[in-house]
Amino acid sequence: SNVTYGEITSVHGHDAFLLEFEQLEVLLAGIFKPQVAAAKVQVLKFGGTSLANGEGLSKVIEIVGAKKAAQQPIALVVSARDNATDQLERLLALASQGQDYHPALDFFKAQQTKPLKESILAHDFEQLSQILAGVALIKDYSEKTKDQVLSFGELLSAKTLVYLLSQQGLDAQLLDTRALIKTNSDFGNASVKEALSKKAVLAAYEALDPHIIPVFTGFIAANEKGETTTLGRNGSNYSAALIASFLDAGELQNFTHVDGIYTADPSLVAEAEKIAALSYSEANELANFGATILHAKTIIPLIEKNIPLRILNTFKADNEGTLISATPTEAGIKSLSVIADVTLINIEGRGLLGKAGVDARIFKTLGNAHISVSIISQGSSERGIGLVVAAKDATEAIISLEREFEQDFYAQDVNRIYAVDQVSVISIVGQDLSSFHKPYNALIKNQIVPLLFNNTVTGKNVSLVLLKKDLNKALNVMHAQIFGQPKKVNIAVVGVGQVGGALIDQILKTAPQIEARKGIKLQVFALLNSKKMLLNAQGIGTASQDWRSALTTLGEAVHFEKLFSYAQEQHLENLILVDNTASTPFVQHYEHFVRNGFDLVSSNKIANTLPFNQYKSLRETLGEHQKQYLYETNVGAGLPLIDTIKLLHLSGENITQIKGVFSGSLSYIFNTFSTAEIPFSQVVKEALHNGYTEPDPREDLSGNDVGRKLLILARELDLKNEFSEGVIENLIPEELQVLDAPGFLAQISKLDPIFAEIKAGLAPDEVLRYVGILGGDLQKEKGQLSAGLCKVPKQSPLGQVKGADSIIEIYTESYGDQPIVIQGAGAGATVTARGVFGDILRIVEKN
Ligand code: ASP
Ligand code: MG
Repeated sequence: SNVTYGEITSVHGHDAFLLEFEQLEVLLAGIFKPQVAAAKVQVLKFGGTSLANGEGLSKVIEIVGAKKAAQQPIALVVSARDNATDQLERLLALASQGQDYHPALDFFKAQQTKPLKESILAHDFEQLSQILAGVALIKDYSEKTKDQVLSFGELLSAKTLVYLLSQQGLDAQLLDTRALIKTNSDFGNASVKEALSKKAVLAAYEALDPHIIPVFTGFIAANEKGETTTLGRNGSNYSAALIASFLDAGELQNFTHVDGIYTADPSLVAEAEKIAALSYSEANELANFGATILHAKTIIPLIEKNIPLRILNTFKADNEGTLISATPTEAGIKSLSVIADVTLINIEGRGLLGKAGVDARIFKTLGNAHISVSIISQGSSERGIGLVVAAKDATEAIISLEREFEQDFYAQDVNRIYAVDQVSVISIVGQDLSSFHKPYNALIKNQIVPLLFNNTVTGKNVSLVLLKKDLNKALNVMHAQIFGQPKKVNIAVVGVGQVGGALIDQILKTAPQIEARKGIKLQVFALLNSKKMLLNAQGIGTASQDWRSALTTLGEAVHFEKLFSYAQEQHLENLILVDNTASTPFVQHYEHFVRNGFDLVSSNKIANTLPFNQYKSLRETLGEHQKQYLYETNVGAGLPLIDTIKLLHLSGENITQIKGVFSGSLSYIFNTFSTAEIPFSQVVKEALHNGYTEPDPREDLSGNDVGRKLLILARELDLKNEFSEGVIENLIPEELQVLDAPGFLAQISKLDPIFAEIKAGLAPDEVLRYVGILGGDLQKEKGQLSAGLCKVPKQSPLGQVKGADSIIEIYTESYGDQPIVIQGAGAGATVTARGVFGDILRIVEKN
C-alpha cells in the first residue's frame, strides 16, 4: 500500500500523507472503483455438438452460470445445434428434387424442440415449412434461399439457449445478427462490412442492462437490403471473432467437443497430442489448411485487438485447451492438418510455354465461377499447371476452364484439362524447406509419392497433395517422423521353425525395450508357415496371446494378395518380410513382396544362390523400389561376416582369398570326431539331436551348404559365379545319396568304416576340418569355389575351433599374410535369430 500512496502522491500532485487514513480510503475507492467494474467481456462461442440434446446443453448452462457467479461479463455466440445445418441443407435438397421431405422435417423439429417445455419455436417452424413448400413447388432454389433456410439453425439455437438460461434464472437476450452484421450479397460466403457491423453490434450490446447475457447468432448476417446471408460453413467461429473484436473482449473462448488443437486429427493418428499454445500466425496457417475448428477468417479480427482465443472442451471442465495468442511459441512444426476431399486440376499444353496471361485467365475464370483455389503449382516451363480446388467445385471448374480455353484447344496450345479426383492435402504447419527432406523421405520409403507439393514463402508451411487412399498412412508416417514418436515397423515372418520361432520370441520379449530406447515400435503383423497365415494389425503375440496356438487355431489359408491388401487397408507402414524358411519355392515371391513395399531379411540362403540372372533381377527390383535386402545370417549365422566383407570390398580393399570352416554343423561333427573315440555315425546323430544339423544331415554332409555360402560371398565381391561351378566334396557315398531321409538314417552306420579309415590316416598333431575356399583371381569375372575335408595342424587357427564354431579368414592385399579372422558360434537357432533381428534393426535405422 506504500506504493499506492506513492502513486497517488505523484498523480495528484499534493501530499496524500497529510490526509487522515479514512479520508484516504474514500479517495482510493473513488479512483479505483470504475476500473474494477470495467473488466473486459469474455466472448463464449458454443459449437453444434456442445448445444446438442443430452449432456451438451446442460454443460453449456453450467459454464455460463459459473461465469456469472464469478461476475465475469460475458457475451455468447452460438452455432446451430448438433448437425442442424447439414439437416437443413438436406431438407432443401429433398424439396428441390421433388422428394418427400416431411419425415426429415418432422425429425428436425422434434430434435429442436426436445429440450423445451413450451412451443417457443412454432413461428419459425411455420416459416421454414413455407419456404420448403415453395422450393418443392418450383423444384429449385437460389443461394439466397439457401442462406435463408440455413439461418434457422442458428436462430433456433439462440432462442432455445435464451429460454433455457432464463429458466435457470440467468437473464439472457437474443441478439439476431441479421440486424447487426452487415455483409455484401455474396450469399453462402458473404464478406463482412466491418465498420458498419461494429457500430450496430456495439450499440445493441451497450443498450442491454449489464446483468443480461447477450446471445448472438453465429454464422448469419444480412446484406444492405436486409436479406439473410451466411459467412460460410463453420462461420460462427468467424462471427465470434468479429464480435469479440467489436466488443474489445478480453478473451474469446471457443467451446467445442474436442480438447483443443492437435498435432494431427486424433481420429486418424492415434499418437496425436494436444497443442498447448499456438501463435496467431501458426493458427492462421492451420485455419487456412483444413482445421475445421477454425474458420479460415477467424484469426484476423483477433490479431488486430490482440485478443487471445482459447479452444476448450465443453464436456471437460478441467481441460486447459489450446491457447492462441500473440505470444510466439517455440520454433518448430506444430501440426499436420488435412483437407480430405479436394480435386487436382491439371492444365497441360505446349502453348502454355511463356505465354503471358495464362494464369490470370485461369484465376479470372475460376473467380467468376466463385471457385477458390487452395494450391497452385506450375513448372518453370509452364507446360503444366496444377491447381487444387474443393471436390464439390471440380466439375464446374473443368467446365468453365474448358470454355475459357476453347480457342487454345483448337490452336493446340492447350492439350488437356483434366481432374484427378479423390485427392487430399496435408499441410505441415511450421515446416520450412530446410528440413522437409525428412518427412518427405519417410513418405517415399513407404511408397507414397505426392502428386505435388508447395510451400508458403512467408509463414512456415509445406503442403503436399496426394491420393486420398494414401492419406491415413502418409499422415501417420510423417507424424511419427516429425514428432519423434515411435516409428512403427510391421514385420511379416515366414517360417516358424527353430529360427523363426526364436525370432518371434525375441521380438516379443525385447520390443518394449527397443521402443523405450530407440523409439522403434516393432510388431509382427503377419505370420506364415507353409500352410497357414495369421494377420493382425495390432500385433501378433501381444496381449499375452500365444502366437503358436493362434497360428494353428486362427490361421487362414496362405494368400499373398490378401496379405498385401490387408497391409494396405490397415495403412501399415515400414513393412519388412523376414524369411526364415529353407524353402526354394517361397523365394520366388520375394520380388512380389518388394513391389508391395516390403524390405527383405532372410536367413534363407536360396535367393542368393539362384542362377545369376535371377540374383540380379531381385537386386534390380530392390533398386527400383528403393528397398533393402539383408541376409547377414546366410554365412556364419550371427557373425558379422557379410557386412565386413561388403565394407572391405566397397572401400576398395582387394580381397585375395576367403577360407574357413563355414558350416557350424560340420564344424561340430569334425571337432568332435577328431578328438573323441566314438563312431562317426554316432557323432552325426548327436549333432542332429542337438539341432546342429538340418533334419536330413546329408544337407550338411553333402557340402552343398558350404558351397552356397562360398557362392554368396563370391557374389558380394561382384563375382558372377554360379552354384554349379563349385568343386565341392560330397561326404556321402553314392549308394547313400539316393535313399530317402529315414532310409539314410537307418543305414548311417555305413559311414563309420569310411571315416574311421580317414581318421587313421591323421598324423598325431592333425585334425579333420571341412574347409571351404574362395580363391583364384578375385579381380576377374569369376572366382574358384572349392570345399572338402582336410587335415590341418591342431595348432593352426582352423585346427583350434571348438564346438559348432565357424572360423573364417579373410586375406586381403593390404593385410598381407595376416588374415582378418572372424570366429564364433556359426550355427544354432538362437544366434541365427539374433542375427536376423540385427538385420531388421539395421533396415529400420537406415529407413
Ligand atoms: N452452423 C454452421 C455450420 O455448421 C456454422 C457453424 O457451425 O459454425 O457450418
Ligand atoms: Mg458447426
